[in-house]
Amino acid sequence: MVERTLAIIKPDAVKKDVIGDIIGRYEKAGLRPIAMRMIRLSKDVAEGFYAVHRQRPFFGSLTTFMSSGPVVVLVLAGDDAIKRHRDLMGTTDPKKADPGTIRAVHGTNIEYNAVHGSDSPDTARFEISYFFPEMDLGVQ
Ligand code: GDP
Repeated sequence: MVERTLAIIKPDAVKKDVIGDIIGRYEKAGLRPIAMRMIRLSKDVAEGFYAVHRQRPFFGSLTTFMSSGPVVVLVLAGDDAIKRHRDLMGTTDPKKADPGTIRAVHGTNIEYNAVHGSDSPDTARFEISYFFPEMDLGVQ
């Protein structure tokens, strides 16, 4: 089933000049960018995006990191895009991520892990509409 998912190239990856490499990996995997913006998140916008993590001990640090520099937000479309994107990203901690995954290649630590990807259809719907309200069509 064709799905849409939200990807973010995080500030650490933008600083490392690997935007092109990461987008190339999406394209080679058949995850086609269908919307894209480069923006700097305010702390408030980062907190709204990660609201589900508000109670977690790393919430303050994570939202400071995510608002520390420009990010690239994209909507990717493809078959089974949500899970296939998560597989391509690798697990949260780059040190535990499978070799060759984006986080294994470009991540630094469990927080500075290069990329974000929606983890379920409901999350994808919320996250896409958070950055691309014009795409809030109710279909993922
Ligand atoms: P994801 O779905 O793999 O991105 O992981 P989560 O939804 O659990 O966490 C969201 C983001 O918070 C991660 O991508 C990391 O940037 C950060 N994060 C997750 N766990 C930790 C942690 O234990 N410590 C810190 N400092 N950051 C974390």
